[in-house]
Amino acid sequence: MKLKRYGSDLLDFIYPPLCLACEQRLYFPEEDLCFACLHDLPRTDFERYIENPVFQIFKGRFPLQHAAAWLHFEKGGMAQVLMHQFKYKDQPQLAFLLGKTLGEEWREAPICREADIIIPVPLHPRKRRKRAYNQAEKIAEGLAKAIDKPVMADQLIRQVYKSSQTKAHRFNRWQQVKSVFSLKHGDALHGKHILLVDDVVTTGATLEACLSAMKDIPGARFSVITLAYA
Ligand SMILES: [Zn+2]
Repeated sequence: MKLKRYGSDLLDFIYPPLCLACEQRLYFPEEDLCFACLHDLPRTDFERYIENPVFQIFKGRFPLQHAAAWLHFEKGGMAQVLMHQFKYKDQPQLAFLLGKTLGEEWREAPICREADIIIPVPLHPRKRRKRAYNQAEKIAEGLAKAIDKPVMADQLIRQVYKSSQTKAHRFNRWQQVKSVFSLKHGDALHGKHILLVDDVVTTGATLEACLSAMKDIPGARFSVITLAYA
């Protein structure tokens, strides 16, 4: 059973709420992260310039309006510690908090201001069963709350991929990734500026596969935002 982070005084005495990054004790109104860690997050400031390193990843691969990541991901760094917490330690509220904080900080940036609809990268159904939540969806929900835009998590679908497929050897890994996303209906997305959200961007292959699945939506424009850039 999970205890509320701020329970009774007795619960706080027995299980004092701790910062998920530095493990120091939290004090009201801190939640999940202490103010010192929030302040020290390794921000990229990528929202300030269009041609930032994340935008460059997609250049020539997919036409985007904007692309940016909020934090630098470094081995052993704070972004890695926090992502580990919400991916493997059952801390969906941390993903929400980080998405919300990102949205509060970038609310006036074009990447957030110009978006109409927020779509999280879907999690593989098998992983979703294991984790019980999609961390990209939690980030998207936090972001949506901060910038007051709707999330549509049911439009983009990730199909079950069978690695035992006999033809699998004919395709390289990239093609396999590319084939797993599809659009359910998409009517609600016509003419919209879609902000695609994920936890981390590295090669951009997963995000590009999602964008490819949505590329034929009439009049749609696309931007990409991630919590971290590795
Ligand atoms: Zn801390």
